[in-house]
Amino acid sequence: MKNYIDELYHIKNLSIKENAPLKDYTTMQIGGPADLFLTPKSEKALIKLTKLIKNINKPYFVLGKGSNVIVGDKGYRGIIIYTGSFNKITFKNNNIIAQSGSTLKELANIAQKHSLAGMEFASGIPGSLGGAIYMNAGAYGGEMNDVIKKVSAYDQNGNKKVMQKVELNLSYRDSIFQKKECIIFEALLELQKGNKDKISAKMNKLNRKRKNKQPLEYPSAGSSFKRPANYYTGPLIEKANMKGYQLGGAQVSEKHTGFIINKDNATAKDIVNLIQKIQKEVYEISGVMLKPEYKFLGEF
Ligand SMILES: Cc1cc2nc3c(=O)[nH]c(=O)nc-3n(C[C@H](O)[C@H](O)[C@H](O)COP(=O)(O)OP(=O)(O)OC[C@H]3O[C@@H](n4cnc5c(N)ncnc54)[C@H](O)[C@@H]3O)c2cc1C
Repeated sequence: MKNYIDELYHIKNLSIKENAPLKDYTTMQIGGPADLFLTPKSEKALIKLTKLIKNINKPYFVLGKGSNVIVGDKGYRGIIIYTGSFNKITFKNNNIIAQSGSTLKELANIAQKHSLAGMEFASGIPGSLGGAIYMNAGAYGGEMNDVIKKVSAYDQNGNKKVMQKVELNLSYRDSIFQKKECIIFEALLELQKGNKDKISAKMNKLNRKRKNKQPLEYPSAGSSFKRPANYYTGPLIEKANMKGYQLGGAQVSEKHTGFIINKDNATAKDIVNLIQKIQKEVYEISGVMLKPEYKFLGEF
């Protein structure tokens, strides 16, 4: 399809930006432009968009809050489907039905207001619901697997699939969606009746903990590496003498060695070089090959 851009402009409720700088949409604040940055504002627009994309020869990437993504300095020669406008949240008894662009913070706060417990662990994770399901995000003993009941997602043909939790293969920072290209649209979260004040106290406690331990004062994309079996990443990196180590503008955080921060106008190349240096040093000292937790996108 040659004039697919014209076709895109015919889709109602679709915001279109050309050459949009992705550094504005990632928490690491790094990344060159995407050829097309599309924000569907209705389910119908999303369906039309998936059907159109199927017929053109251009890669696409679904972007939530960009809190786990490193985008290359040269950007992305493809289509970003940004879920930022899918933020409707409704309640049914102890269940929340939320669209994938809703933030975990919003969901945790709303659950607390409705005296629903179970989302406290997620209140400080700076991602969207879709990204959190894709990653099976977790913290402080909780993970998305504990609260998800079912998910509806669009496949590459624009068909909607409703998937029960057992079909999602949620495991440590992994889900079926990392193997099967789908756009997560909505999810049903099952929570428990709780006490508003207790829920709020737990959220505050966890967020204080996070603030004390994590370098939230700098741009980052969370933990740089997945936790290897039988080890903790932070101590491995510290043992390799990498605490505070800086390459270009990227630094191994002094506050939390498990985080790489954008200390001073880092480039994506700086981040990648630093990842490789950490992997090499840790492997030499401890014999463990760390695997990045980040998702990488575009040209570096
Ligand atoms: C300061 C900080 C602290 C963090 N703390 C934690 C933590 O405690 N625990 C934790 O698990 N993570 C943590 N993270 C990492 C990150 O917040 C989570 O992985 C989060 O779930 C990513 O959500 P997102 O919306 O930002 O996803 P993005 O970064 O936008 O995308 C991540 C992946 O999900 C895919 N994706 C996103 N939305 C959809 C969708 N609707 N359909 C299909 N695929 C989709 C993307 O294509 C991409 O592959 C932290 C990050 C930061 C910056």
